[in-house]
Amino acid sequence: MRKEPLSIILTSDLAAKARGRAFPQQDFQKYLNTGCGWVPANLAIDAFGSIVTPNPFGSVGDLRLMPDVSSIASLALNDSGEQTTMVLADIHTPDGKPWDCDPRTFLKQAIADLKQETGLSVVSSFEHEFMLLVNDERPVNTPFSLESYLEEEELGGRLIAALDDAGLEPEMWLPEFGRNQFEVTVAPSPALVAADRAVYLREITRHVASSVGKRITFSPIIEENGGGNGVHIHVSLRDEDERFVTYDPSRPGSLSEIAGSFAAGILQHAEAIQAIAASAPISYERLVPNHWSAGGVFLGENNREAMLRICPLFNTPGANHQKQYNLEYRAADATSNPWLVLGCLIRAGLEGIRAGLDAPNIVQGESSRFTEAERQAHGIRSIPASLEEALRAFETSEVARGWFSTGFAETFLSVKRAEIRRVEGMETGERYAAYAATY
Ligand code: GLU
Ligand code: MG
Repeated sequence: MRKEPLSIILTSDLAAKARGRAFPQQDFQKYLNTGCGWVPANLAIDAFGSIVTPNPFGSVGDLRLMPDVSSIASLALNDSGEQTTMVLADIHTPDGKPWDCDPRTFLKQAIADLKQETGLSVVSSFEHEFMLLVNDERPVNTPFSLESYLEEEELGGRLIAALDDAGLEPEMWLPEFGRNQFEVTVAPSPALVAADRAVYLREITRHVASSVGKRITFSPIIEENGGGNGVHIHVSLRDEDERFVTYDPSRPGSLSEIAGSFAAGILQHAEAIQAIAASAPISYERLVPNHWSAGGVFLGENNREAMLRICPLFNTPGANHQKQYNLEYRAADATSNPWLVLGCLIRAGLEGIRAGLDAPNIVQGESSRFTEAERQAHGIRSIPASLEEALRAFETSEVARGWFSTGFAETFLSVKRAEIRRVEGMETGERYAAYAATY
């Protein structure tokens, strides 16, 4: 039997699922020019594969997935070594214009507006945590251990190779703190590339795991009071001459004035963008204090409870602090679409720069031990307690809603509210299992 080498054009939707169409590799060039068909109502597909109603699209309309050659990734998906080519697409209307509900175009426009208004561009990197799904009866946890690394060295080695082949510049693979938890990181890159890499990384990781007979999940939490799987998004700013401008050692926290305004914008709109950053009902079980996820809306220095963390600098030989210095947004998870969450961080940061906001207060000390009065004194706000609360914050924020077309915002709210209804009747265990299976 013959097996045709294939290429795949992909988008990623409101459920952060990569979806698309495949065709013979030999026709790749043709499809790069013409794109392939797509359906507007696909944007209303939820995390479990149903098309949610109401949605503004119904059964009518046509779109095209237009591949962006900058995102081509080729890799072997099995041991034959045969390469499959994947490419990410912008979604266009039939008249060749970007569709106003396209998540990738949303990020591209945010990048373009930031550049046009301020001359700045964002360099970013997404860190992903995930868990192996195993029946592990052992009474011990083995965080950061060589033992865990050795047990999963086949998965780790193959994963790093696959990410490398796909051009994702993998940096590190490590056993994390949680039970059967691992983390994988890739090198920083310009914002669009960083988000494209996040789209690929989740799919490639799941595939590599299944190819070695394992199941993994990026679901934010897989058991009651369990550890969380975060997606931590690192950002720094560069000016038109590609100089890093986030760092200024003369200021508090070494946070430059412009990056301070950018950070203040993110915190000002934090509640409004929370549903886009952590998009499932169970995401909010991870986003609670004392989980080292994000225990409140604040800027902290080297503090893993902060929503926005100033990352440490190291004085290793030849260290370049200008380049090293970055902010980490910790409140996202893999139920979020990478293009949308990074687009929202950039939009919110740009609002902060436009308004000339002062840098946020940098919370010092062990914030997890603060009393309620101390939290208030430091200006720490609580993260929305549920997806519905986060959706209401988005819905009622004229600013955040204004970044999206009406149809885009409506579809997002409708898909997420349908997901809340769908899982609220489930038993607790069934709900964890459903998310572990889909993410
Ligand atoms: N697992 C933690 C989270 O849910 C993050 C731990 C860390 O890497 O700081 O975000
Ligand atoms: Mg981690």
